[in-house]
Amino acid sequence: MLKRITLLGPPGAGKGTQAKLIAQKSGLVHLSTGDILRDEVARSTELGRAAKGYMDRGDLVPDQLIIDMIRGRIAETDGFILDGFPRTVAQAEALSEITSIDSAVNIALTREDVIERLSSRRVCKECGRIYNLLFNPPVDKTHCDICGGELFQRADDQQAVIENRYDVYMKATAPLIDFYSTRGLLREVDGSQPTEAVLEAIMDYLSS
Ligand code: AMP
Repeated sequence: MLKRITLLGPPGAGKGTQAKLIAQKSGLVHLSTGDILRDEVARSTELGRAAKGYMDRGDLVPDQLIIDMIRGRIAETDGFILDGFPRTVAQAEALSEITSIDSAVNIALTREDVIERLSSRRVCKECGRIYNLLFNPPVDKTHCDICGGELFQRADDQQAVIENRYDVYMKATAPLIDFYSTRGLLREVDGSQPTEAVLEAIMDYLSS
């Protein structure tokens, strides 16, 4: 089984949702730079205070802060699924110096789908479970099916910020598709399919 994986794809493609499900099924450790940063912001740490402005605008946090934040966690983990890292070629180069990865799985989604999905995304405050009011709705629009926690909309899931995040993705992150393709590590999955179908495609590939 492949066990050092990164998930690529635009914001809203389902990286967080898939990474959580893959981690549950496979035992790989889920490492999300977005989740780590949101926790740093919530705790108002030095890193959180440095990152917040970039995140609120939908811009990328500077490479060196991200690399310093994630390096130790990657180095001490045997099998992992990276979600939201690397996001630039400089980060991918830094990652290759920390460890080799087995594969980069690109969850592909169009700009229209990204905007539709992100504006209807909701997240549980308690357990972090991700819902979508259109495609994967909770029974009660305001509370989590699993733990009953309150659902909220991420501050960066507002229309103007969503559009900037997509532009930033195209400029800074989409080049990673070529980066991993030329190294023979890229696998593409159609992210417009239902969650279960995307999961099955990725799991089949990881265990092949
Ligand atoms: P995400 O939850 O992956 O969509 O990340 C939310 C926000 O955190 C992004 O819009 C960036 O501002 C920041 N962020 C997360 N991961 C990275 C990364 N690898 N490099 C730079 N910024 C990041």
